[in-house]
Amino acid sequence: PTDLNSLCDEYLRLAYHGLRAKDKTFNATLTTHFDPNLGMVDIVTQDVGRVLLNLLTNAFYAVQQRQKLQEAGYQPTVTVSTKQGEECIELKVRDNGMGIPEEVKQKIFQPFFTTKPTGEGTGLGLSLSYDIITKGHNGTLSVESVEGQCTEFIITLPLTA
Ligand code: ADP
Ligand code: MG
Repeated sequence: PTDLNSLCDEYLRLAYHGLRAKDKTFNATLTTHFDPNLGMVDIVTQDVGRVLLNLLTNAFYAVQQRQKLQEAGYQPTVTVSTKQGEECIELKVRDNGMGIPEEVKQKIFQPFFTTKPTGEGTGLGLSLSYDIITKGHNGTLSVESVEGQCTEFIITLPLTA
């Protein structure tokens, strides 16, 4: 059984500091909304941890790209939240980065699909994450995005006894 709140917190910091190690000028606001009543959840911790790292790495990349546009007043922000539901736990990773155009959104869960320059992305993160959450944990992984504004990935995990 895993405490998802601490796992999220750990990976949020890990992803941020990983990026900061490569780009010292990069700054982002990290926000968390953790449900204090979240129960322990029966997951394969290293697999869900890998999903979190994928989603967070994508989120930080998206805000970093938008920061390069130098819009006045833009503050890169990545938010992770958890919520205890009746039948599942909901986990959201949100960023106010580049957003995903509609025609791109259809393809992001396909293996090897990437919009990143060669060497920066394998295109495997989301397809692997999708399998881990759906096949590996009986959960769901979905996305909502507004092009040029924000993206949110939503994971649900069933509450196992
Ligand atoms: P990779 O990160 O190697 O490109 P992924 O499978 O993790 O592969 O993501 C596939 C594509 O989905 C990315 O190249 C990008 O176009 C899009 N994407 C994923 N997450 C985000 C995000 N948070 N904001 C904008 N685009 C995203
Ligand atoms: Mg990725």
